[in-house]
Amino acid sequence: MKLNKEDIYNMLDNPLVQQVLLEILNDDTSGFDVLAVLIELEEVTDDEISRQLDLKLNTVRKLLYKLYDARLVDYDREKDEETNWYTYTWKPALEKLPSLVRKKTQHVLKELKEQLIVEENNMFFYCPNCEFKYTFEEAMDYGFRCPQCGGILKEYNNKNDIKIIKEQIKFLEDELRLNPLFSTSEGIKNQKRDKVAVV
Ligand SMILES: [Zn+2]
Repeated sequence: MKLNKEDIYNMLDNPLVQQVLLEILNDDTSGFDVLAVLIELEEVTDDEISRQLDLKLNTVRKLLYKLYDARLVDYDREKDEETNWYTYTWKPALEKLPSLVRKKTQHVLKELKEQLIVEENNMFFYCPNCEFKYTFEEAMDYGFRCPQCGGILKEYNNKNDIKIIKEQIKFLEDELRLNPLFSTSEGIKNQKRDKVAVV
């Protein structure tokens, strides 16, 4: 299935998608610029991306390799018979991005739920000076003294932490369940159908 530019830009507007891309790009936001050039031109050499963005060729290549590792771009290689040099033409391959985001989000959800169980079933202590948080067992092992500064550990009310984790879980679950982009394997098609239905 080939995505049109509008589908792709809608998808890239989603905060979960952006978060996963940032993770893939090691927080290097110039990766978004590289993607934008790929999306606009559909097929482009690394040289051309480098010129368009005024980015070092080496930087562009590193970003392209990261995206390639995640299977979000593809390339064709052509050999110049005279110079024996290869030219790489890159193109976007973002069809699998929604399922990748869904998989990563499910993993984050699993971790959040595990964390919630720990928070709900433990008593916590903290050091008001260092702002480190300890479980009851840890605090007991330290004799209720901060291992960093020696100050007395105080009981910590984790109600707010629990609230924040629950909100995060709800946000991610709603997004996976209700956003047509992620709710089915053919998310993008459904998103289109949804739009038509709303209009
Ligand atoms: Zn301390």
